[in-house]
Amino acid sequence: MWTIEKPDISALEAFDTCVAGITTPDLRQRLQNIRVDIEAGETTFNDAAEASSLYRIAPAMNVGAVTAGEMEKLYDRHMVRSGGRGRAIYDRLMIAAENDMCPFCGHRTVSTLDHSLPKAAHPAFAVTPINLIPCCKDCNHAKGTQSPATAEDQLLNAYYDDVTADRWLSAGIIEGSPPAASFFVEAPAYWGNEIATRVKKHFTDLHLAKLYASQAGRQFQNIRGALGEIYDAAGEDAVREDLERRFRSCSDFIVNSWEGAMYEAAAASDWYCNGGFRGLTWRLAKGEISIATPAATYACRVSTTAVLSILRLKGLFLEPGAARYGRP
Ligand SMILES: [Zn+2]
Repeated sequence: MWTIEKPDISALEAFDTCVAGITTPDLRQRLQNIRVDIEAGETTFNDAAEASSLYRIAPAMNVGAVTAGEMEKLYDRHMVRSGGRGRAIYDRLMIAAENDMCPFCGHRTVSTLDHSLPKAAHPAFAVTPINLIPCCKDCNHAKGTQSPATAEDQLLNAYYDDVTADRWLSAGIIEGSPPAASFFVEAPAYWGNEIATRVKKHFTDLHLAKLYASQAGRQFQNIRGALGEIYDAAGEDAVREDLERRFRSCSDFIVNSWEGAMYEAAAASDWYCNGGFRGLTWRLAKGEISIATPAATYACRVSTTAVLSILRLKGLFLEPGAARYGRP
């Protein structure tokens, strides 16, 4: 869902480089005989990708007299394998992503190349650079090897599909202890049905809601202490301003960053800004301690010392005199 500049390495350059490593005369000759198919295939691929219609390219069992299996081996042994003739091209493609960020999830690090059209079903593009997208292994695995059957089936292509300028990622705060966030796609109203469906499918198939939610959980922990200091010094509005500042800073860099969506949702939550960031709230009055979660309030007249010890251990302790954030 994030873009990478299209590689400037031609299909023939990659193909010829890999074929140069083939020592079996018969296979080498058969591969050289399909150079014209590789070159024509690149044009077909590029035209289809620019029209968001890669799904229209029919699967094939072979390219001329070269089987899909032989093309897969050409990729595996002469482009991926360390020391292979085409490995330098593989490495160039791998470093194209800004900050090494996987363009599919926008979070994990690039660690492999994904065949936009799977090489087993589309052997003509097995070593074609515009069909090879750097990404993380998790996204590569989740995407699988199925060919898209319809326009809506197509995941986003980092070289051709650009949805980075529009805001489509949103989040909501789940009030609880600890606080959490849920993420979802909110397509702009002016988007067509096809692109909105594709973005939602991409988000679902690559399990991005789960990835972002787990990362947000850790981030909520990281900022709890800092927000606590802001709250104690200046109150709820100052917490909200801090979160809004964090949101703007993240979104300036990447419009649909999960961090930005998380901070925006947190700033919009009165519950979170008013002490919910601590995970729970408590109040000490008239010899009774009451601990409030969004679901219920628990009161205790005895064992106050023990409860305070637990709060202290969890880093949630606040001196009674400063208990302004309690929300019974
Ligand atoms: Zn990824």
